[in-house]
Amino acid sequence: MTLLDRAACHVFQPLLYQCATGTLSIGQISRSLREELQDHRNVKPLLGEAIRLDAGARRVTARRPDDSTFDVDYDYLVLAAGMRQSYFGKEEFAAWAPGMKTLDDALSIRRRVFAAFEIAETLPPGAERDQWLTFAVAGGGPTGVEIAGQIRELATRALANEFHSIEPEDARVLLFDGGDRVLKSFAPALSEGAARVLTDLGVELHFGVHVSDVRRDGITVRSKDAGAEVDYATRTVLWTAGVEAVPFANHAAEVLGASSDRSGRIAVEADLSVPGHPEVFVIGDLAGRDGLPGVAENAMQGGLHAAACIRRDLEGKRRKNYRYRDLGSAAYISRGHALLQAGPIRLTGIPGWLGWGFVHIAFLTGVRNRFSTVGTWLATIARSNRSDRTFILGGSGHPEEPYTWESPVHQSNNSRKAPAGSPAPSPRAAD
Ligand SMILES: Cc1cc2nc3c(=O)[nH]c(=O)nc-3n(C[C@H](O)[C@H](O)[C@H](O)COP(=O)(O)OP(=O)(O)OC[C@H]3O[C@@H](n4cnc5c(N)ncnc54)[C@H](O)[C@@H]3O)c2cc1C
Repeated sequence: MTLLDRAACHVFQPLLYQCATGTLSIGQISRSLREELQDHRNVKPLLGEAIRLDAGARRVTARRPDDSTFDVDYDYLVLAAGMRQSYFGKEEFAAWAPGMKTLDDALSIRRRVFAAFEIAETLPPGAERDQWLTFAVAGGGPTGVEIAGQIRELATRALANEFHSIEPEDARVLLFDGGDRVLKSFAPALSEGAARVLTDLGVELHFGVHVSDVRRDGITVRSKDAGAEVDYATRTVLWTAGVEAVPFANHAAEVLGASSDRSGRIAVEADLSVPGHPEVFVIGDLAGRDGLPGVAENAMQGGLHAAACIRRDLEGKRRKNYRYRDLGSAAYISRGHALLQAGPIRLTGIPGWLGWGFVHIAFLTGVRNRFSTVGTWLATIARSNRSDRTFILGGSGHPEEPYTWESPVHQSNNSRKAPAGSPAPSPRAAD
């Protein structure tokens, strides 16, 4: 059994935002696959990015991080490559608005958020300082809500008394969503409650708008009804608005002659195999069938199902169809507030918060990570501080690693630089 992964570690994505905002370290929410699977001697984890599929030869070609390649032959192939952030065709937004899918994303957001407060501290009062103290979040799903709430909590608690010239609590957090409420996958009453908590925390909610531009010094949103555009001056835009299949999934679908939906989810048979290819399974976020949700439970149950199908094949038994069992969902809003929805059970406030904490600890990989995360949470609750705020800004005098809050992609984007903008919001000509 070969486990090919481009990252060589398991990442517990539901807690990425806590890593991005300095509560947890990347070590607490991830674990080396080699370490995780050391007791399974028949599993061989390999670091490499799948780039090519030869369905006839039953071979996957993978790229090593040094750009060389190697082949992995298979009898059965299970595609579980997940989704990446989608910018709905506006790929240029990615340079200024990191998504929240990987450890790299979490560390990039951490650098941007904490550096923004630090840069603001060095500026005199005025429009430029306000721009650094304005944070925009695109997308009002669980991740957008979590990150928006965390930035306001950071500003009003952990950072509140640490600066000399700025008042961190003045930080504006703007959350934009195309719909009419946050957390649409939850019951309306729960999402209304969540909106109230966010508003009390100081998050500014803007519904019925699409982000039409993201640039170095601002974001533009367009009202879905009126079509009017409004600019907001900000130096930090975070993107949680949509997902799409990773590039290898698109290639695999083409090679396998499988159809896929607009987001690139691959259509599968009732047993999660690809039509015409019983030896290829698609599971998790990539599996496109009957509205299967992009949640961890579906990925885990899909993995168990594919394994059971392969075992039944080897035993000469008929495969069973996949049946997803919805065990509910949870979303964190702020300290003391979370939502938990499982069948008829609806928890909010402190009970929801405790339920959310229990579920997340139960599914975190590694016993050491569970204990250390509980310890960190208790310390954070007791002292309101954040123990993992360190961010990296490059070396001194190293042209290949310049001292900057931007990432290398920004260096090539300097042509997009514009002078510091005006106070937000300001109506545009299109209004
Ligand atoms: C910020 C965030 C918060 C979330 N919160 C929750 C939550 O609270 N509850 C919940 O149920 N779900 C949550 N989810 C969703 C949940 O994490 C996913 O549904 C689940 O991880 C999907 O599992 P997967 O195996 O399909 O894909 P992933 O977990 O995304 O795994 C894909 C793997 O494939 C690897 N990979 C990608 N491309 C290649 C390639 N070409 N070659 C080799 N390897 C490759 C990646 O490195 C990765 O390890 C959240 C997701 C995010 C991003």
